[in-house]
Amino acid sequence: MKPEELIKVLYEMFPDARCELDFTDDFSLLCAILLSAQTTDKQVNKITPILFQRFSTPKLMMKASLNELEDIIRPLGLAKNKSKYLSNLATSIELEFDGKVPNDVKILETLPGVGHKTACVFMAEYYNEPHIAVDTHVQRVSNRLGLVDSDNVLKTEKELERIFKKEDYIKAHLGLLFLGRYLCKSKNPGCDKCGLKDFCKFGKNYEKNS
Ligand code: SF4
Repeated sequence: MKPEELIKVLYEMFPDARCELDFTDDFSLLCAILLSAQTTDKQVNKITPILFQRFSTPKLMMKASLNELEDIIRPLGLAKNKSKYLSNLATSIELEFDGKVPNDVKILETLPGVGHKTACVFMAEYYNEPHIAVDTHVQRVSNRLGLVDSDNVLKTEKELERIFKKEDYIKAHLGLLFLGRYLCKSKNPGCDKCGLKDFCKFGKNYEKNS
């Protein structure tokens, strides 16, 4: 299957594939991505209105105590770590970048709590810059579909960027993400409902053996 066809089928299955985090500006998006580690975007969306009502800028968040942040984000889990990340992130943006969120992957990666995947998701969503961020979902489905044969997310990213056209990177990322998040789950992938099952070796074997 050609990469363009793959994207077409993904969007037939998930026509609304898009970033599911709510945000109002670059700072709230970056914080929301950071908070979404090991929880769902829906959960994050319940918390961020409360968080940003009180601490809407790096300056305000920098001044918040860790306890205040932790109390708000507790329902997301990992609240101790996440509150430290938020506090350090806000402090770094305020003091080192004059309160402005950087708009460059390499610089973003230097911020506390911001890894390569977070930086790529941020740049793709906020600036429409072409990236294929590889998280656990994209990694799993890319291997199952036989697009890559890799257990290394950076290698997978490079390989996917070689396969898809640059102008399709964001669509490819969101389509693969939705496939992994909502159908091709780690346990019990929904192969019987998947538009890619004729193309997918893993799916064929899975159906045969189940
Ligand atoms: S056929 Fe099954 S394993 Fe393959 S992509 Fe679809 S859901 Fe995943």
